Amino acid sequence: GSTLEIHDLHVAVGDKEILRGVNLTVKAGETHAIMGPNGSGKSTLAYAIAGHPKYTITSGRVLLDGADLLEMTVDERARAGLFLAMQYPVEVPGVSVSNFLRTAVTSMRGEAPKLRQFAKDLKTGMDALSIDAAFAQRNLNEGFSGGEKKRHEILQLELLKPKIAVLDETDSGLDVDALRVVSEGINRFRSSGETGVLLITHYTRILRYVKPDFVHVFAAGRIVEQGGPELADKLEAEGYEAYTKASA
Ligand code: ADP
Ligand code: MG
Ligand code: MG
Repeated sequence: GSTLEIHDLHVAVGDKEILRGVNLTVKAGETHAIMGPNGSGKSTLAYAIAGHPKYTITSGRVLLDGADLLEMTVDERARAGLFLAMQYPVEVPGVSVSNFLRTAVTSMRGEAPKLRQFAKDLKTGMDALSIDAAFAQRNLNEGFSGGEKKRHEILQLELLKPKIAVLDETDSGLDVDALRVVSEGINRFRSSGETGVLLITHYTRILRYVKPDFVHVFAAGRIVEQGGPELADKLEAEGYEAYTKASA
């Protein structure tokens, strides 16, 4: 199985240091939840791993199966098996969902999937997520509802089968039914035991459906506490106040 290793990662936006030494290892078969208050740097971690140009790595290392992820282009990161679902997906006019997904699968595998097989896999994935068939022909992210965006993220997981998936606020803005469908999708995805999941969230609600093996609390750009699923229960009861005070 694969391993994502983050060593003493420091990240700045402009001259402002946002991540201040993050250490984390995610192995295949494990689900890690990163939880923390707004503004603590959770999305910055996802963007930095993704290679977003706004986020400058000032020191530290990120390795996927021993290979230096930070030296890779965004495409190479995907091909190495990394999947990142972003908190705010971009609209791409003129590119359909179906085309986007086929291109993504192609860039991940290094060769285009056969059209007929791809169409079949796409339909299976969409059915499993209760996505209407017409969705495949819509323009990417254009006018997507919150629920459609999130279902689309999980559809990508099912088709791309990455080694490590980083999901940022996959639960935000979902009603209970959509949350259940999305959670079931994540659970199907991780049930192979061959993929690691890094689930970034502000709320504990999704963790009732997607049980993490490890919970990490983020505050002011670093992990300030770690534990098992019971830590999420404690956060639900007590909130983040204790951590924001301690790290301010
Ligand atoms: P979280 O996801 O935990 O809510 P973020 O990573 O979005 O936190 O933000 C952490 C801090 O970094 C915040 O103070 C935010 O304003 C700042 N920040 C993040 N991204 C940018 C950016 N692109 N430009 C300026 N500031 C940013
Ligand atoms: Mg935020
Ligand atoms: Mg965020």
